[in-house]
Amino acid sequence: MFTAIQHSVSPFDAERFRRDFPILQREVYGRPLVYLDNGATTQKPLAVLQTIERFYNQINANIHRGVHRLSAESTEEYERARTTVQRYINAQHPHEVLFTAGATAGINMVANAFGDAFVREGDEIIVSEMEHHSNLVPWQMLCQRKGAQLRVWRFDERGELSLDHLAALMGKRTKLLAITHVSNTLGTVNPIAQITALAHVHGVAVMVDGAQGIKHGKVDVQQLDADFYAFSGHKIYGPTGIGVLYGKEQWLSKMPPWQGGGDMVATVTLERTTYNDLPFKFEAGTSNYIGAAGLAAALDYYSAVGIEAATAYEHELLQYATQQLQAIDGLMIIGNADSKAAIISFVQQGVHPYDTGMILDKMGVAVRTGNHCTQPTVDHFGLPGTVRASFAFYNTPAEVDCLVEAVRRARQMTL
Ligand code: PLP
Repeated sequence: MFTAIQHSVSPFDAERFRRDFPILQREVYGRPLVYLDNGATTQKPLAVLQTIERFYNQINANIHRGVHRLSAESTEEYERARTTVQRYINAQHPHEVLFTAGATAGINMVANAFGDAFVREGDEIIVSEMEHHSNLVPWQMLCQRKGAQLRVWRFDERGELSLDHLAALMGKRTKLLAITHVSNTLGTVNPIAQITALAHVHGVAVMVDGAQGIKHGKVDVQQLDADFYAFSGHKIYGPTGIGVLYGKEQWLSKMPPWQGGGDMVATVTLERTTYNDLPFKFEAGTSNYIGAAGLAAALDYYSAVGIEAATAYEHELLQYATQQLQAIDGLMIIGNADSKAAIISFVQQGVHPYDTGMILDKMGVAVRTGNHCTQPTVDHFGLPGTVRASFAFYNTPAEVDCLVEAVRRARQMTL
Protein backbone atom coordinates (compact mmCIF):
# COMPACT_ATOMS: atom_id res chain seq x y z
CA MET A 1 0.00 0.00 0.00
CA PHE A 2 1.09 3.52 -0.84
CA THR A 3 4.33 2.66 -2.52
CA ALA A 4 4.50 6.11 -4.06
CA ILE A 5 5.05 7.70 -0.67
CA GLN A 6 6.99 4.87 0.95
CA HIS A 7 9.63 5.33 -1.71
CA SER A 8 9.57 9.08 -1.44
CA VAL A 9 12.99 10.71 -1.18
CA SER A 10 11.73 13.33 1.26
CA PRO A 11 9.81 11.69 4.08
CA PHE A 12 7.22 14.05 5.47
CA ASP A 13 5.88 13.40 8.94
CA ALA A 14 2.17 14.15 8.50
CA GLU A 15 1.32 12.24 11.71
CA ARG A 16 3.46 14.64 13.71
CA PHE A 17 1.74 17.69 12.24
CA ARG A 18 -1.72 16.18 12.78
CA ARG A 19 -1.19 16.60 16.50
CA ASP A 20 -1.13 20.39 15.99
CA PHE A 21 -4.77 20.29 14.82
CA PRO A 22 -7.16 19.49 17.69
CA ILE A 23 -10.16 18.94 15.40
CA LEU A 24 -8.40 16.08 13.62
CA GLN A 25 -8.64 14.03 16.81
CA ARG A 26 -12.45 14.02 16.78
CA GLU A 27 -14.81 11.34 15.57
CA VAL A 28 -17.94 11.55 13.46
CA TYR A 29 -20.62 8.85 13.75
CA GLY A 30 -18.20 6.93 15.99
CA ARG A 31 -15.49 6.84 13.32
CA PRO A 32 -12.29 8.84 13.06
CA LEU A 33 -12.81 11.98 11.02
CA VAL A 34 -11.26 11.82 7.56
CA TYR A 35 -11.27 15.44 6.51
CA LEU A 36 -10.86 15.78 2.76
CA ASP A 37 -12.67 19.09 2.25
CA ASN A 38 -9.62 21.31 2.46
CA GLY A 39 -10.51 23.13 -0.75
CA ALA A 40 -13.56 24.53 1.04
CA THR A 41 -11.69 25.38 4.23
CA THR A 42 -8.65 24.10 6.08
CA GLN A 43 -8.42 23.20 9.74
CA LYS A 44 -6.59 25.43 12.20
CA PRO A 45 -3.45 24.57 14.14
CA LEU A 46 -3.06 25.38 17.84
CA ALA A 47 -0.64 28.18 16.95
CA VAL A 48 -3.53 30.04 15.29
CA LEU A 49 -6.11 29.21 17.95
CA GLN A 50 -3.75 30.34 20.73
CA THR A 51 -2.90 33.57 18.93
CA ILE A 52 -6.58 34.47 18.71
CA GLU A 53 -7.21 33.53 22.33
CA ARG A 54 -4.19 35.51 23.54
CA PHE A 55 -5.26 38.54 21.53
CA TYR A 56 -8.77 38.57 22.99
CA ASN A 57 -7.53 37.77 26.50
CA GLN A 58 -4.58 40.14 26.67
CA ILE A 59 -4.61 42.86 24.06
CA ASN A 60 -7.96 43.52 22.45
CA ALA A 61 -8.62 47.19 21.60
CA ASN A 62 -9.60 48.91 18.38
CA ILE A 63 -6.65 49.75 16.15
CA HIS A 64 -5.29 53.04 14.82
CA ARG A 65 -7.64 55.12 16.94
CA GLY A 66 -6.75 55.09 20.61
CA VAL A 67 -3.91 56.76 22.44
CA HIS A 68 -4.03 54.10 25.14
CA ARG A 69 -1.62 51.24 25.56
CA LEU A 70 -3.90 48.41 24.42
CA SER A 71 -4.81 50.24 21.22
CA ALA A 72 -1.13 50.78 20.48
CA GLU A 73 -0.38 47.08 21.05
CA SER A 74 -3.34 46.03 18.91
CA THR A 75 -2.20 48.34 16.11
CA GLU A 76 1.32 47.01 16.36
CA GLU A 77 0.10 43.40 16.04
CA TYR A 78 -2.09 44.31 13.07
CA GLU A 79 0.68 46.10 11.22
CA ARG A 80 3.10 43.31 12.07
CA ALA A 81 0.62 40.90 10.48
CA ARG A 82 0.70 43.03 7.35
CA THR A 83 4.48 42.78 7.22
CA THR A 84 4.28 39.01 7.73
CA VAL A 85 1.94 38.74 4.74
CA GLN A 86 4.16 41.07 2.71
CA ARG A 87 7.17 38.84 3.32
CA TYR A 88 5.18 35.65 2.77
CA ILE A 89 4.02 36.69 -0.70
CA ASN A 90 7.11 38.81 -1.39
CA ALA A 91 5.20 42.03 -2.06
CA GLN A 92 7.48 44.98 -2.64
CA HIS A 93 5.78 47.19 -0.02
CA PRO A 94 3.63 46.55 3.08
CA HIS A 95 1.07 49.06 1.75
CA GLU A 96 0.43 46.77 -1.22
CA VAL A 97 -1.14 44.33 1.26
CA LEU A 98 -4.77 45.19 1.98
CA PHE A 99 -6.69 43.24 4.61
CA THR A 100 -10.13 42.19 3.44
CA ALA A 101 -12.82 39.77 4.58
CA GLY A 102 -11.57 37.15 2.11
CA ALA A 103 -10.85 36.37 -1.52
CA THR A 104 -14.38 37.28 -2.59
CA ALA A 105 -14.19 40.69 -0.92
CA GLY A 106 -10.79 41.39 -2.52
CA ILE A 107 -12.00 40.53 -6.01
CA ASN A 108 -15.13 42.66 -5.57
CA MET A 109 -12.94 45.53 -4.43
CA VAL A 110 -10.91 45.34 -7.64
CA ALA A 111 -14.00 44.93 -9.81
CA ASN A 112 -15.42 48.09 -8.25
CA ALA A 113 -12.41 50.33 -7.73
CA PHE A 114 -10.38 49.29 -10.80
CA GLY A 115 -13.63 49.10 -12.76
CA ASP A 116 -14.60 52.66 -11.78
CA ALA A 117 -11.21 54.04 -12.66
CA PHE A 118 -10.29 52.17 -15.82
CA VAL A 119 -13.23 50.40 -17.48
CA ARG A 120 -15.45 52.26 -19.97
CA GLU A 121 -18.32 51.32 -22.25
CA GLY A 122 -17.12 48.99 -25.00
CA ASP A 123 -14.04 47.83 -23.06
CA GLU A 124 -13.44 44.13 -22.51
CA ILE A 125 -12.75 41.93 -19.51
CA ILE A 126 -11.54 38.35 -19.97
CA VAL A 127 -12.38 35.58 -17.51
CA SER A 128 -11.49 31.93 -17.80
CA GLU A 129 -14.17 29.29 -18.01
CA MET A 130 -12.85 27.60 -14.85
CA GLU A 131 -13.42 30.54 -12.50
CA HIS A 132 -15.10 30.21 -9.14
CA HIS A 133 -18.28 32.31 -9.08
CA SER A 134 -16.33 34.78 -6.91
CA ASN A 135 -14.05 35.59 -9.83
CA LEU A 136 -16.80 35.58 -12.41
CA VAL A 137 -19.92 37.25 -11.05
CA PRO A 138 -18.18 40.51 -9.95
CA TRP A 139 -16.87 40.90 -13.53
CA GLN A 140 -20.29 40.19 -15.01
CA MET A 141 -21.71 42.85 -12.69
CA LEU A 142 -18.99 45.32 -13.69
CA CYS A 143 -19.64 44.70 -17.39
CA GLN A 144 -23.35 45.28 -16.85
CA ARG A 145 -22.72 48.51 -14.97
CA LYS A 146 -20.28 49.86 -17.51
CA GLY A 147 -21.62 48.44 -20.77
CA ALA A 148 -18.38 46.46 -21.17
CA GLN A 149 -18.00 43.03 -22.79
CA LEU A 150 -17.11 39.84 -20.94
CA ARG A 151 -15.02 37.44 -23.00
CA VAL A 152 -14.41 33.85 -21.96
CA TRP A 153 -11.14 31.92 -22.17
CA ARG A 154 -12.23 28.30 -22.52
CA PHE A 155 -10.36 25.24 -21.27
CA ASP A 156 -9.88 21.91 -23.04
CA GLU A 157 -11.06 18.43 -22.02
CA ARG A 158 -8.07 17.94 -19.73
CA GLY A 159 -8.90 21.18 -17.93
CA GLU A 160 -6.02 23.19 -19.39
CA LEU A 161 -6.00 26.68 -20.83
CA SER A 162 -4.03 27.51 -23.95
CA LEU A 163 -1.92 30.66 -24.13
CA ASP A 164 -2.56 30.84 -27.86
CA HIS A 165 -6.27 31.13 -27.17
CA LEU A 166 -5.59 33.90 -24.70
CA ALA A 167 -3.46 35.77 -27.23
CA ALA A 168 -6.31 35.55 -29.73
CA LEU A 169 -8.84 36.87 -27.19
CA MET A 170 -6.95 40.00 -26.21
CA GLY A 171 -7.59 43.15 -28.16
CA LYS A 172 -7.14 46.92 -27.96
CA ARG A 173 -10.13 47.28 -25.63
CA THR A 174 -9.13 44.51 -23.19
CA LYS A 175 -8.56 46.04 -19.78
CA LEU A 176 -8.24 43.11 -17.41
CA LEU A 177 -7.92 39.33 -17.27
CA ALA A 178 -9.40 37.54 -14.22
CA ILE A 179 -7.80 34.15 -13.75
CA THR A 180 -7.57 31.61 -10.98
CA HIS A 181 -4.15 30.41 -9.88
CA VAL A 182 -5.52 26.95 -9.07
CA SER A 183 -8.94 25.65 -10.10
CA ASN A 184 -10.90 24.54 -7.04
CA THR A 185 -12.79 21.96 -9.12
CA LEU A 186 -10.28 20.67 -11.69
CA GLY A 187 -7.14 21.15 -9.63
CA THR A 188 -5.43 22.75 -12.63
CA VAL A 189 -2.48 24.94 -11.70
CA ASN A 190 -2.37 27.76 -14.22
CA PRO A 191 1.02 29.11 -15.37
CA ILE A 192 0.44 32.57 -13.94
CA ALA A 193 3.90 34.00 -14.70
CA GLN A 194 3.51 33.10 -18.39
CA ILE A 195 -0.05 34.42 -18.43
CA THR A 196 0.89 37.79 -16.91
CA ALA A 197 3.86 38.10 -19.29
CA LEU A 198 1.55 37.65 -22.26
CA ALA A 199 -1.19 39.89 -20.85
CA HIS A 200 1.26 42.69 -20.08
CA VAL A 201 2.53 42.70 -23.67
CA HIS A 202 -1.05 43.67 -24.56
CA GLY A 203 -1.31 46.20 -21.72
CA VAL A 204 -3.84 44.03 -19.86
CA ALA A 205 -3.90 43.97 -16.04
CA VAL A 206 -4.21 40.56 -14.36
CA MET A 207 -6.38 39.79 -11.35
CA VAL A 208 -5.29 36.45 -9.89
CA ASP A 209 -7.71 34.56 -7.68
CA GLY A 210 -5.31 32.94 -5.24
CA ALA A 211 -7.94 31.33 -2.99
CA GLN A 212 -6.54 27.85 -3.75
CA GLY A 213 -3.16 28.91 -5.08
CA ILE A 214 -2.00 30.47 -1.83
CA LYS A 215 -1.57 27.06 -0.19
CA HIS A 216 -0.02 25.45 -3.24
CA GLY A 217 3.69 26.07 -3.01
CA LYS A 218 5.41 29.35 -2.41
CA VAL A 219 3.60 32.36 -3.84
CA ASP A 220 5.82 35.22 -4.94
CA VAL A 221 3.68 38.00 -6.36
CA GLN A 222 6.68 39.78 -7.91
CA GLN A 223 7.83 36.65 -9.67
CA LEU A 224 4.24 35.97 -10.84
CA ASP A 225 4.03 39.65 -11.79
CA ALA A 226 0.36 39.66 -10.77
CA ASP A 227 -1.28 43.05 -10.73
CA PHE A 228 -3.69 41.82 -8.07
CA TYR A 229 -3.68 38.60 -6.03
CA ALA A 230 -6.55 37.81 -3.63
CA PHE A 231 -6.81 35.06 -1.04
CA SER A 232 -8.66 34.04 2.12
CA GLY A 233 -7.07 33.22 5.46
CA HIS A 234 -9.31 30.25 6.12
CA LYS A 235 -7.96 28.31 3.15
CA ILE A 236 -4.40 28.51 4.43
CA TYR A 237 -4.90 27.31 8.01
CA GLY A 238 -5.93 30.76 9.25
CA PRO A 239 -9.21 32.11 10.61
CA THR A 240 -12.37 32.87 8.67
CA GLY A 241 -13.39 36.45 7.95
CA ILE A 242 -9.91 37.65 7.04
CA GLY A 243 -8.22 37.75 3.67
CA VAL A 244 -5.74 39.71 1.63
CA LEU A 245 -5.82 41.67 -1.55
CA TYR A 246 -2.36 42.31 -2.89
CA GLY A 247 -2.25 45.09 -5.46
CA LYS A 248 0.66 46.75 -7.20
CA GLU A 249 1.17 50.24 -5.88
CA GLN A 250 0.96 51.65 -9.41
CA TRP A 251 -2.67 50.48 -9.60
CA LEU A 252 -3.79 51.00 -6.00
CA SER A 253 -2.54 54.59 -5.95
CA LYS A 254 -4.67 55.40 -8.99
CA MET A 255 -7.82 53.60 -7.86
CA PRO A 256 -10.57 55.39 -5.92
CA PRO A 257 -11.61 53.92 -2.57
CA TRP A 258 -14.42 51.42 -2.79
CA GLN A 259 -16.07 51.71 0.59
CA GLY A 260 -16.31 54.86 2.70
CA GLY A 261 -16.07 55.02 6.49
CA GLY A 262 -13.67 55.38 9.37
CA ASP A 263 -9.93 54.90 8.93
CA MET A 264 -9.95 55.43 5.16
CA VAL A 265 -10.12 59.22 5.46
CA ALA A 266 -7.57 62.00 5.97
CA THR A 267 -9.94 64.94 6.54
CA VAL A 268 -13.73 65.08 6.55
CA THR A 269 -15.98 68.12 6.42
CA LEU A 270 -19.69 68.09 5.77
CA GLU A 271 -18.97 68.98 2.17
CA ARG A 272 -15.89 67.02 1.30
CA THR A 273 -13.51 64.25 2.27
CA THR A 274 -9.88 63.63 1.48
CA TYR A 275 -8.62 60.10 1.65
CA ASN A 276 -5.99 58.38 3.71
CA ASP A 277 -2.81 56.92 2.21
CA LEU A 278 -2.38 53.32 1.14
CA PRO A 279 -3.25 50.81 2.48
CA PHE A 280 -5.81 52.51 4.75
CA LYS A 281 -7.67 54.10 1.83
CA PHE A 282 -9.00 50.59 1.13
CA GLU A 283 -9.66 49.51 4.72
CA ALA A 284 -12.82 51.36 5.73
CA GLY A 285 -14.26 50.62 9.17
CA THR A 286 -12.89 48.43 11.93
CA SER A 287 -10.67 45.84 10.31
CA ASN A 288 -10.58 42.25 11.46
CA TYR A 289 -7.32 42.91 13.31
CA ILE A 290 -7.50 39.74 15.39
CA GLY A 291 -8.15 37.74 12.23
CA ALA A 292 -5.09 39.39 10.69
CA ALA A 293 -2.94 38.30 13.63
CA GLY A 294 -4.41 34.78 13.30
CA LEU A 295 -3.58 34.76 9.60
CA ALA A 296 -0.01 35.85 10.32
CA ALA A 297 0.27 32.99 12.84
CA ALA A 298 -1.01 30.58 10.17
CA LEU A 299 1.56 31.78 7.63
CA ASP A 300 4.36 31.47 10.19
CA TYR A 301 3.13 28.00 11.09
CA TYR A 302 2.93 26.87 7.46
CA SER A 303 6.39 28.28 6.78
CA ALA A 304 7.75 26.32 9.75
CA VAL A 305 6.12 23.12 8.45
CA GLY A 306 7.85 23.80 5.13
CA ILE A 307 5.74 25.09 2.24
CA GLU A 308 7.61 23.26 -0.50
CA ALA A 309 7.83 19.99 1.46
CA ALA A 310 4.11 20.16 2.31
CA THR A 311 3.19 20.80 -1.32
CA ALA A 312 5.39 17.94 -2.54
CA TYR A 313 3.81 15.61 0.01
CA GLU A 314 0.29 16.68 -1.00
CA HIS A 315 1.28 15.95 -4.59
CA GLU A 316 2.24 12.42 -3.62
CA LEU A 317 -1.12 12.01 -1.89
CA LEU A 318 -2.76 13.25 -5.08
CA GLN A 319 -0.89 10.74 -7.23
CA TYR A 320 -1.70 7.89 -4.89
CA ALA A 321 -5.40 8.84 -4.67
CA THR A 322 -5.57 9.25 -8.46
CA GLN A 323 -4.08 5.78 -9.01
CA GLN A 324 -6.43 4.16 -6.51
CA LEU A 325 -9.60 5.92 -7.64
CA GLN A 326 -8.86 5.30 -11.30
CA ALA A 327 -8.87 1.58 -10.57
CA ILE A 328 -12.56 1.72 -9.56
CA ASP A 329 -14.93 0.55 -12.25
CA GLY A 330 -17.10 3.31 -13.72
CA LEU A 331 -15.24 6.12 -11.98
CA MET A 332 -14.11 9.09 -14.03
CA ILE A 333 -11.76 11.84 -12.86
CA ILE A 334 -12.66 15.33 -14.04
CA GLY A 335 -9.60 17.49 -14.58
CA ASN A 336 -6.42 15.83 -15.82
CA ALA A 337 -4.09 18.75 -16.35
CA ASP A 338 -0.36 18.09 -16.34
CA SER A 339 0.08 20.47 -13.48
CA LYS A 340 -2.42 19.79 -10.70
CA ALA A 341 -2.80 20.77 -7.05
CA ALA A 342 -4.03 18.19 -4.52
CA ILE A 343 -7.66 18.32 -5.60
CA ILE A 344 -9.54 15.44 -7.26
CA SER A 345 -13.01 15.73 -8.72
CA PHE A 346 -14.72 12.60 -9.90
CA VAL A 347 -18.04 11.09 -10.90
CA GLN A 348 -19.23 7.49 -10.81
CA GLN A 349 -21.36 6.05 -13.56
CA GLY A 350 -24.92 5.63 -12.32
CA VAL A 351 -24.32 7.24 -8.92
CA HIS A 352 -25.33 10.82 -8.18
CA PRO A 353 -22.43 12.76 -6.59
CA TYR A 354 -24.70 13.83 -3.76
CA ASP A 355 -25.45 10.18 -2.88
CA THR A 356 -21.74 9.37 -2.85
CA GLY A 357 -21.11 12.35 -0.57
CA MET A 358 -23.86 11.29 1.85
CA ILE A 359 -22.61 7.72 2.06
CA LEU A 360 -19.01 8.84 2.51
CA ASP A 361 -20.13 11.15 5.30
CA LYS A 362 -21.66 8.25 7.22
CA MET A 363 -18.26 6.56 7.00
CA GLY A 364 -16.57 9.60 8.50
CA VAL A 365 -15.16 10.87 5.20
CA ALA A 366 -15.81 14.57 4.56
CA VAL A 367 -15.78 15.50 0.88
CA ARG A 368 -17.65 18.12 -1.11
CA THR A 369 -20.28 17.44 -3.75
CA GLY A 370 -21.99 19.68 -6.29
CA ASN A 371 -20.66 22.35 -8.59
CA HIS A 372 -18.21 23.83 -6.05
CA CYS A 373 -19.33 27.36 -7.01
CA THR A 374 -18.01 26.72 -10.53
CA GLN A 375 -21.20 25.96 -12.40
CA PRO A 376 -19.73 26.79 -15.85
CA THR A 377 -16.88 24.35 -15.15
CA VAL A 378 -19.16 21.40 -14.44
CA ASP A 379 -21.52 22.49 -17.24
CA HIS A 380 -18.52 22.15 -19.59
CA PHE A 381 -18.61 18.40 -18.90
CA GLY A 382 -22.42 18.20 -18.96
CA LEU A 383 -22.46 17.04 -15.34
CA PRO A 384 -24.82 17.83 -12.46
CA GLY A 385 -21.75 18.10 -10.21
CA THR A 386 -18.80 16.11 -8.99
CA VAL A 387 -17.47 14.60 -5.79
CA ARG A 388 -14.36 16.50 -4.73
CA ALA A 389 -11.65 15.32 -2.38
CA SER A 390 -9.07 17.98 -1.56
CA PHE A 391 -5.99 17.28 0.51
CA ALA A 392 -3.82 19.10 3.01
CA PHE A 393 -0.41 18.15 4.42
CA TYR A 394 -2.09 16.65 7.52
CA ASN A 395 -3.86 14.00 5.45
CA THR A 396 -2.35 10.55 5.25
CA PRO A 397 -2.18 7.64 2.81
CA ALA A 398 -4.40 5.68 5.23
CA GLU A 399 -7.04 8.38 4.79
CA VAL A 400 -6.79 8.00 1.01
CA ASP A 401 -7.43 4.29 1.57
CA CYS A 402 -10.54 5.16 3.64
CA LEU A 403 -11.77 7.40 0.84
CA VAL A 404 -11.24 4.72 -1.80
CA GLU A 405 -12.88 2.03 0.31
CA ALA A 406 -15.87 4.33 1.02
CA VAL A 407 -16.24 5.17 -2.68
CA ARG A 408 -16.26 1.46 -3.56
CA ARG A 409 -18.91 0.83 -0.90
CA ALA A 410 -21.00 3.79 -2.12
CA ARG A 411 -21.04 2.28 -5.58
CA GLN A 412 -22.06 -1.15 -4.26
CA MET A 413 -24.83 0.38 -2.14
CA THR A 414 -26.37 2.49 -4.88
CA LEU A 415 -26.18 0.15 -7.87
N1 PLP B 1 -11.93 31.36 -5.57
C1 PLP B 1 -11.70 30.04 -5.46
C2 PLP B 1 -10.89 29.34 -6.50
C3 PLP B 1 -12.21 29.34 -4.36
O1 PLP B 1 -11.98 28.03 -4.25
C4 PLP B 1 -12.98 30.05 -3.41
C5 PLP B 1 -13.60 29.32 -2.29
O2 PLP B 1 -13.90 28.15 -2.39
C6 PLP B 1 -13.15 31.41 -3.57
C7 PLP B 1 -12.63 32.04 -4.67
C8 PLP B 1 -13.93 32.22 -2.59
O3 PLP B 1 -13.28 32.25 -1.34
P1 PLP B 1 -13.99 32.91 -0.09
O4 PLP B 1 -15.36 32.30 -0.02
O5 PLP B 1 -13.13 32.55 1.07
O6 PLP B 1 -14.04 34.38 -0.34
